[in-house]
Amino acid sequence: MTDKRLEGQTAIVTGAARGIGRAIIREFAASGANVVINHITDTCLAKDLAEEVSNEFGVRTLVVRANVADYEQVTTLIQETIRAFNRIDILINNAGITRDKTIKKMTKEQWDEVIHVNLDSVFNCTRQVLPYMIERNRGRIVSLSSFVALAGNFGQANYAATKAGIIGFTKTVALEVARNNITVNAICPGFIDTDMLQNVPEEIRRSLIERIPLGRFGKPEEVAACIRYIVSEADYMTGQAISLNGGVYI
Ligand code: NAD
Repeated sequence: MTDKRLEGQTAIVTGAARGIGRAIIREFAASGANVVINHITDTCLAKDLAEEVSNEFGVRTLVVRANVADYEQVTTLIQETIRAFNRIDILINNAGITRDKTIKKMTKEQWDEVIHVNLDSVFNCTRQVLPYMIERNRGRIVSLSSFVALAGNFGQANYAATKAGIIGFTKTVALEVARNNITVNAICPGFIDTDMLQNVPEEIRRSLIERIPLGRFGKPEEVAACIRYIVSEADYMTGQAISLNGGVYI
């Protein structure tokens, strides 16, 4: 029997055209949620995904192009969502980028770009969905952090700073909106096999796998399933940073 426990709910997923975001859209749609697919450059992929899940699962979809690092573009994303669905139940802050360099070589531009896309976006989206969740006295927010936030990673000072920032933000906002029956959590994936990891040279990919006790990279679908559990079943969990990393020691 198909589990439709998100039926009638509206979920926004940022950076959702590919990778983990795409898997989350599929998982939510399979559970009956109407989905808002945000993207920045992948218009074709986003439209194909919308068509795919509406045909396969019979849910309603909305594709919105918006740079989530930009506060005003997020305002438009939220307004379009409300116009289409009149409610926002779930926000997944998934959009993220890497601009890897050791700190000695990292430029100010590489620092700023990663802070804007990975961290400002989480403020921009969370801040602007909260009024709609508070109004309904219910909401679920999950942000994509990373095991790098907890362990550090060579060449990723900018990325690690944003992902650690997400954890502090999550714990604080969780405290502030608990009275409104809104839960706020972060998830810290290890190495998940998406485009982000496929850009890494083969030799480094092999050395990464050697560090993972389960002996393989994670799958986007495994992250999506964990997030679906958080938003649909883990009602008593808030302010947490959940590790999902194949046992990588941190
Ligand atoms: P990905 O590069 O495949 O997907 C990221 C998506 O975000 C892309 O579709 C991209 O277009 C979008 N995006 C980038 N900038 C944007 C912006 N300004 N506005 C809107 N969308 C934007 O990466 P992924 O592996 O699917 O990663 C998804 C999230 O999970 C990221 O936050 C990433 O940091 C995090 N994460 C990934 C891994 C991993 O190993 N893949 C591990 C831990 C955490």
